[in-house]
Amino acid sequence: MEIQKIVQKQKDFFRTHQTKSIKFRKHYLERLKNLILENEDLLYEAIDKDFGKSKFDTFTTEISFIINDINYYLKNLKSLSKPRKVKTNLVNQIGKSKIHPEPLGNVLVIGAWNYPYQLSLSPVIAALAAGNCCILKPSEIAENTMKIMSKIINENFPSEYLYVYKGGIDETTQLLKLKFDKIFFTGSTKVGQIVYKAAAENLTPVTLELGGKSPTIISKDANLEIAAKRIVWGKFLNAGQTCVAPDYLCVEKTVQEEFLALLKKYIQEFRYHPNSSHYTKIINQKNFERLIHLIDNDRIYTGGSYNKEQLYIEPTILHNIDWNDQIMQEEIFGPILPVISFTDFNLILNDILDHEKPLAAYLFTSNNEEKEAFIKKISFGGGCINDVIMHLGNENLPFGGVGNSGIGNYHGKFGFETFSHQKAILEKATWGEPNIKYPPYSDKKLNW
Ligand code: NAD
Repeated sequence: MEIQKIVQKQKDFFRTHQTKSIKFRKHYLERLKNLILENEDLLYEAIDKDFGKSKFDTFTTEISFIINDINYYLKNLKSLSKPRKVKTNLVNQIGKSKIHPEPLGNVLVIGAWNYPYQLSLSPVIAALAAGNCCILKPSEIAENTMKIMSKIINENFPSEYLYVYKGGIDETTQLLKLKFDKIFFTGSTKVGQIVYKAAAENLTPVTLELGGKSPTIISKDANLEIAAKRIVWGKFLNAGQTCVAPDYLCVEKTVQEEFLALLKKYIQEFRYHPNSSHYTKIINQKNFERLIHLIDNDRIYTGGSYNKEQLYIEPTILHNIDWNDQIMQEEIFGPILPVISFTDFNLILNDILDHEKPLAAYLFTSNNEEKEAFIKKISFGGGCINDVIMHLGNENLPFGGVGNSGIGNYHGKFGFETFSHQKAILEKATWGEPNIKYPPYSDKKLNW
């Protein structure tokens, strides 16, 4: 069936008001959860075909994440959907005021390829929990995961409620011409701008989950051992193809030598070699070529080898890097980690501030003044002190960017709110009328 017809069917279905029932939403969230669990092996197989991602990584960063999301909404749906009573001010007496969360209606979710299940299904789950009908357009770049999501969902969900539309740029362009009540996009800043422009034509609200260069600062007051271990894990997870991965390091000069040696130690300890089952491939030839051109042979501290057939790039650390180097001009999105050294903590914050607002930022230190300056002075989507990436795993924290790294956020109650409208209702008593507001007016009334 043509996509326009499915979108129209979803609009008609939303008008039946069935999605407003909590029982209905819970039923389908349960169904999605069961489908994921029943098809877990097929999901692992598809992502492995797309970019050689291990079962363990897929479980921890994708499947368990989605299941936790569904469980969160199953548990909290009733309280999230409940009208909230708020105070009523004097001029509105005698009355009561409430905020009624209501679903926006028909929403479009556009996913990215790097965590294809999580980045497609997590917003879909929030959209369904909030009572919307939804079209999902996953990324065509991770082709097998797109196909398996489409098969599982389209064979088991009514298309007038949830439908997966497969395709690439042409299909997305076609979708963007249609009118939705919300567009939720995950991807690059460049395509985010295309989506934002298209949405403006229909005054459609958007959430844009974009990318950027996420800095990681290592102060001389850091626990260097733990910092190195956590950074090596977070940077080379998914071969660096993670939107919130540390993009570059800023290391205090006095500890740089010791710290780089620790990074190298953990890279070796984690055994990221071409045939390792836990080290992911680069998604495609195009990204592989882009990445190997970012490796400046004169700056390699460790790594630097690659294999074109296997789309493997060794975890690579580049040192003696300057802000003007090519690698500092674009989001890396791969297993290459440039290191800039610094001598003054406040000056390095200023250097970071000279660049676009990143999706994430990380600081490793035990110094409270540095922690405070980091939080107060730099603007970024979210981040961690003494860890990387893990802020994403706390559903009580909103996840989203700021400035060039995005608009809006989701996860937990924030996801529910992203796909809801907060309808304000004031209900008045029909007695106790304050006649002062009605004409005829007089100075006496003004001076009351
Ligand atoms: P992308 O922008 O190339 O593609 C994202 C989606 O947009 C895909 O579904 C694709 O089909 C569609 N698309 C691509 N070009 C289009 C066009 N010209 N017109 C209309 N639609 C188009 O991004 P990607 O390569 O899938 O992902 C990598 C980027 O996404 C990185 O910048 C990364 O940081 C960012 N990202 C952000 C988050 C986040 O949560 N903030 C998560 C993952 C990735």
